[in-house]
Amino acid sequence: MENILKYQELDLKLQQLEKSVASSKEKSVMNQMISYVKDAQNKSMELEHKAKKMMEEYLLLKKEYDKNILTIKQLTAKNSSELSTDEMDEIFNQINIVSSNLYMIERNLNIQLVNIKNILKEFEQTKNGVIKAREKHKESKQKYEQLVSEINPKIEAVKKEMEKLEKGIEPKILTKYKSAKHDNIFPVFVPLNNGNCGGCRMALPMGKLDKLKSDGYIVCEQCGRVIYQK
Ligand SMILES: [Zn+2]
Repeated sequence: MENILKYQELDLKLQQLEKSVASSKEKSVMNQMISYVKDAQNKSMELEHKAKKMMEEYLLLKKEYDKNILTIKQLTAKNSSELSTDEMDEIFNQINIVSSNLYMIERNLNIQLVNIKNILKEFEQTKNGVIKAREKHKESKQKYEQLVSEINPKIEAVKKEMEKLEKGIEPKILTKYKSAKHDNIFPVFVPLNNGNCGGCRMALPMGKLDKLKSDGYIVCEQCGRVIYQK
């Protein structure tokens, strides 16, 4: 019994060491930066797609604009002395229509230019964010690796000590310990506490207490822990 308790103590120490690495600040910063970069890459792709679409729209508008300019040139190129009043009126009408078209197109072109500029700005910001995140990731990774190199030898030492102890533990008890731990029961071995289970505090019937005295330990029916007498 003494050995398994020592073993359990070491196991706790091992878990704490492993936890100090797994839940370290460095690791969480590292993971944050990785997901930041991933998100930023998705966003960049989205922006690129958006910018491409806007550029296409811009070029279409520009084409439309040039077409209208050409129409105006053609309309104004006609010799007015060869035209009747009706024909002149018709030309003026068309020029008016084309002019208002041009006005609208110009307005849309300007809007589109502003949109494109905004996207480029957002793209730039995202890029800068990624550069910063990569630096921060590198920094926290170094710190994390430093931490791992400090903790790992300690973990290995505890594991070795546990291995040595295993040889002095009754196989039945060790198997019970391992299977309970596998079911996320920890600590597995708890002392009897005023006639109660030292884990879940359930009161033990007299019959069980007698069995504890004769066997040295019993399994708690409620929490599955092994109860021993101090
Ligand atoms: Zn219990």
